[in-house]
Amino acid sequence: MASYFDEHDCEPLKDGEQPNHMLHMARLLLDSGLAAEWDLEYGRIFGGDGKTPPASKKIVESLPTHIVTPTEAALERKCPVCLGLFDEEDEVKEIPCSHKFHSKCILPWLDKVNSCPMCRHELPTDDPDYEAYKKHKARAKQREYEMEELHNSMFG
Ligand SMILES: [Zn+2]
Ligand SMILES: [Zn+2]
Repeated sequence: MASYFDEHDCEPLKDGEQPNHMLHMARLLLDSGLAAEWDLEYGRIFGGDGKTPPASKKIVESLPTHIVTPTEAALERKCPVCLGLFDEEDEVKEIPCSHKFHSKCILPWLDKVNSCPMCRHELPTDDPDYEAYKKHKARAKQREYEMEELHNSMFG
């Protein structure tokens, strides 16, 4: 299969030849172009109103659950969702970012959104499209970093 660069008459690197910064830049830009298309596509599905899929059922089921002890209740900590106290005998769930909520407060939330109401830390979802989108986002970040490094090495 002919690649983009074959079609555009670019010579592959010969032995001992230094990689061409401009070519590398062009490749990154081409990549970012594709990324922009992805962003548009996924922006339509997940972006805009900031809608995200629910957290993975399996993950939610496996969240550590804890019953508030009298000692803990005495600390008078509050649930960030309902702003009510963690009372003795209340069932509390801890999510991976270490934030704690009443089970009855966080479960309906995770049923709609996959991120922590406090810090936006994302839990895995059961939505393969969204997971692909997240991977893509991570790659885009890496690319941004590479672009910056490249820019610094050329003009820095
Ligand atoms: Zn609560
Ligand atoms: Zn959190």
